[in-house]
Amino acid sequence: MAYKFSCRDTGLDCDFKAEAETMDELMPKIAEHGKQAHDMAEISDETMQKVKAAITEEPKNESESDKKE
Ligand SMILES: [Zn+2]
Repeated sequence: MAYKFSCRDTGLDCDFKAEAETMDELMPKIAEHGKQAHDMAEISDETMQKVKAAITEEPKNESESDKKE
């Protein structure tokens, strides 16, 4: 599973996107971006909810096992 985040999905006019294999890897990237780009020293509960709502989960492509049955 890949987790994807697009800053624009939180309502901000921003092209930042982040991607990671786990939420634990993704959240620090978002937090770091928030700090640098949006002056968010801390992420409020309200912002956190928006962020979580904006994160999408996508299955990984299995290129190797592409056989039928
Ligand atoms: Zn942003």
